[in-house]
Amino acid sequence: MTEQEMTCEVLATHLTDFLEGDLPEAAEAAALEHLSTCQSCEGVLASTREVVALANEHGRAPLSKEDRSRLLAKLMDAVE
Ligand SMILES: [Zn+2]
Repeated sequence: MTEQEMTCEVLATHLTDFLEGDLPEAAEAAALEHLSTCQSCEGVLASTREVVALANEHGRAPLSKEDRSRLLAKLMDAVE
């Protein structure tokens, strides 16, 4: 796997994995670094976290495939 520059777009595609702790360490570090410098991604992260927390509260598996892709579509919209 080659290293990928962490941009808003890249981060959005990794966000659900990030929140679920599924990101490889290097990607997680890059994501954290980007988040500390990018306000728009910080906002997106906050709302994504809410969605994930809500899903967890209802006792479902973290996120279903459909939830994930719906969420991702929304996030991609937000960063454009
Ligand atoms: Zn960003």
